[in-house]
Amino acid sequence: MTAESLPTSGFAAAGFSDRHIGVTTQPHVHHMLSTLGFGSLEELTTAALPESIYTTEPLSLAAGVSEEAMLAELRELAAKNTVNRSFLGQGYYGTFTPGVIARNVLESPAWYTAYTPYQPEISQGRLEALLNFQTTVADLTGMVTANASMLDEGTAAAEAMALMRRSNRSASADAVFLVDADVFPQTLAVVTTRARAMGIPVLVHDFDAGAPGQEYFGVLLQYPGDSGRIRDLAPLIDAAHAAKALVGVAADLLALTLLEAPGTLGADLAVGTSQRFGVPMGFGGPHAGYMAVRKGLERALPGRLVGVSKDADGHIAYRLALQTREQHIRREKATSNICTAQVLLAVMAGMYAVYHGPAGLLAIAERVHADAAAVAATAAAAGHTVVHADFFDTVRIRLAGANADQIVAAAHAGGYLLRRIDDAHIQIAVDETTTAADLAALAGFLGAATVTVPTGAGAIAAARTTGYLDNGVFHAHNSETQMLRYLRKLSDADYALDRGMIPLGSCTMKLNATAEMAAITWPEFAGLHPYAPAEDTVGIVEMATQLEAWLAEITGYDAVSVQPNAGSQGEFAGLMAIRAYHVENGNPDRDIVLIPTSAHGTNAASAVMAGLKVVPVATDGFGNVDIDDLKRLITLHEDDLAAIMVTYPSTHGVFETSITTICAMVHDAGGQVYVDGANLNALVGLARPGKFGADVSHLNLHKTFCIPHGGGGPGVGPVGVRAHLAPHLPARSLGQHSSVGLVSSAPYGSASILPISWAYIRMMGPDGLRRATQTAILSANYIARRLAGHYPVLYTGAHDLVAHECILDLRGITADSGVSVDDVAKRLIDYGFHAPTMSFPVAGTLMVEPTESEDLAEVDRFVDAMVAIRREIAAVQDGLWPAGDNPLVNAPHTARSLVKDWTHPYSREEAVFPAGVDPRAKYWPPVRRIDQAYGDRHLVCSCPSIEELAADL
Ligand SMILES: *Cc1c(COP(=O)(O)O)cnc(C)c1O
Repeated sequence: MTAESLPTSGFAAAGFSDRHIGVTTQPHVHHMLSTLGFGSLEELTTAALPESIYTTEPLSLAAGVSEEAMLAELRELAAKNTVNRSFLGQGYYGTFTPGVIARNVLESPAWYTAYTPYQPEISQGRLEALLNFQTTVADLTGMVTANASMLDEGTAAAEAMALMRRSNRSASADAVFLVDADVFPQTLAVVTTRARAMGIPVLVHDFDAGAPGQEYFGVLLQYPGDSGRIRDLAPLIDAAHAAKALVGVAADLLALTLLEAPGTLGADLAVGTSQRFGVPMGFGGPHAGYMAVRKGLERALPGRLVGVSKDADGHIAYRLALQTREQHIRREKATSNICTAQVLLAVMAGMYAVYHGPAGLLAIAERVHADAAAVAATAAAAGHTVVHADFFDTVRIRLAGANADQIVAAAHAGGYLLRRIDDAHIQIAVDETTTAADLAALAGFLGAATVTVPTGAGAIAAARTTGYLDNGVFHAHNSETQMLRYLRKLSDADYALDRGMIPLGSCTMKLNATAEMAAITWPEFAGLHPYAPAEDTVGIVEMATQLEAWLAEITGYDAVSVQPNAGSQGEFAGLMAIRAYHVENGNPDRDIVLIPTSAHGTNAASAVMAGLKVVPVATDGFGNVDIDDLKRLITLHEDDLAAIMVTYPSTHGVFETSITTICAMVHDAGGQVYVDGANLNALVGLARPGKFGADVSHLNLHKTFCIPHGGGGPGVGPVGVRAHLAPHLPARSLGQHSSVGLVSSAPYGSASILPISWAYIRMMGPDGLRRATQTAILSANYIARRLAGHYPVLYTGAHDLVAHECILDLRGITADSGVSVDDVAKRLIDYGFHAPTMSFPVAGTLMVEPTESEDLAEVDRFVDAMVAIRREIAAVQDGLWPAGDNPLVNAPHTARSLVKDWTHPYSREEAVFPAGVDPRAKYWPPVRRIDQAYGDRHLVCSCPSIEELAADL
């Protein structure tokens, strides 16, 4: 596209930013601006933002470049990495992503642009895929219920510790948490960070030395251990239970195809990662962690849980179970802060199990084990000692000479990564990608002339006796043809950004450009082990470091860490930095954090996890922080105020004018200011939290910076701080000393998706970024203005303007008509839309955020649908349709519902082709409205059988 081909464009050239931003033609911009009474974008945003924070100073970033130029630069960075053959193991393994899954899940916008399945009627595909994941995990671990993913193995273990602490009511308050000495070091590091925050003493214990001499409430074992050793867990579990402790087992899913399941052996819960089920190592992430629990603990599970229920016609339908456990609702009573998880990766891992089936997984595991046995036999033949006879894939070798460094260096020079344990020991972990040539090369490094293949390939002592993956879904899609069609069938059931707008307030569902996504599968990024030597990872570290610097420039902070792998983890890291700062300054008792009642639920949950006490601050009639209440609370807590945590612009969708005053008041009282940066899409290029008074923020790269939502993850939640907090950022490596330690397993968190945000910033440049923000504000205000005559807009700020989102208040309409926000949300499905955010932050309202990426036609289509729905509500109010039988309460309408007897007082056409819907391009929901309560009363969180599904027809 050239500038000449865009005669109506007022902008110099049609660069990437003109493709990212939906409203680019000058007549459209003018139309929207004049609806609001403004002459230019600059005039609009000057009026919308408080003068005290507004800046016209351009961001100090290089000018944006084209897709092609960006990719060329990124290729140069990728070329600085060296992808050696990794035998490092330690929780990260080589794996083959089946091509059919790589192309039709990982690279398919139908999967990666979807939102968290809170609207289950338009999410049946990803809900079924997550149910496959849960069933895989529950079966392999021998547990009853598995959740729909955790952020990684380390944080899953930390959550397990917290679960054991609160579920073990018989243990005394000062009982310790035991971590087996053979647990992965990064897991221990993440658990230690969390334990310190929660005041839980951690004791690393070697069970070979007998029972611990102390009371413990729970224990974490690794299976197989970090050393590769497989221990008989049964006596350890029995001993722990005899001591009234709970037992968590961090288990390798592939090994579990051969090993007796932790659940069968009596463990209370299992955690781990599903990385080696087809998800590349990616320098540490993202991958789906998992947690599974025995019967009786399912209601204590953190994270999301998919369950089976039924729809209004009684058909089987899936939805998130026990949604009242969501953190939005539980706030400071929350037991975990996890919100965004790892859905896309869980879908991949579940599909890997579906594709291979139990026999295929077993064959992979047997081959891996046979290769490990060959490594062990070869090492022994070369005169070394195999330390543990019982292993699955990882062999610890005591070298005949104390020359670990030499062997590791020689291997590295030859393109192989071996793990050094100490001078005398190395470790070799094989995986499904290991080849005969690899084994021959390893033999050479060990000083053996040939590979010794043992006879009988080493039977596993703790061999599995129980079956797994019996469900038909794991037997019906083992051919590529069937797998392709299954993936297509599921994604066809869902509504994602590839179908239309997803106007979810607070979630910023903007374009995830194809060029931004390109690099995530490049082997130079995807193939890196997180603990590969620094020489091998120069390019990815340079890319991540550049991104951190750019984010620091955009936010006005002095330092940024991309380690937190979700917004919630960024909150935790930021609050830990504040705590460490107060301790450093001799104020360990400052532990009160003030949080406005409108805040996202993760804020309060993260504060509790960081060991802080939450005190809510009231909001005034305009939706702003109530300054009088704030004054009162600051005085009340003058000695123990740690921080205030405010979202800016607020979750009420307005730019509070008093933000600088709020910051100053808290600073004067000795507190720190945490600005939740999830709404940064309203600020980029216009205002910088680090300059207008905040000390620390997290950002959501999966909102403002274009990482796709993936149906509920992955995400990245970088934490940015001013200089005085920089020493308290998360550690840069496992070995580095840091007051906070690691907040996620890998030093750069979900490193392999960082190129997405890098690409976005590089292509937009300072001008594109600023115009994107201005356009997001323009669109939100245009929607608010056009809908104001139909639905009251709950809050506006200066000049009657909103920020980048607006809240539509339906409470009065509901009171008058009986039509609820739920009815409107479900009716929007019939009109071909995903609903806005429902009942957050105010019950009975809808929060709309169009983002800059939607063009005028799509924005108008949405407004027209909302106006048409308002007319339908009026028809109910006027008695034209009965309150109990109208297109709103019956929404959404399936194709199947049309061919039954039609007794409704409205026509089939009105049901499924309401105003503005093109019958040729209709989105058909596969199920009708889902009965939430039924599924919670009959909790089922694994796949229905083929028979149950057949009976449902
Ligand atoms: C999305 C969001 C969060 C939480 O981010 P996750 O990545 O889901 O953990 C926190 N605060 C606000 C205002 C948000 O919108």
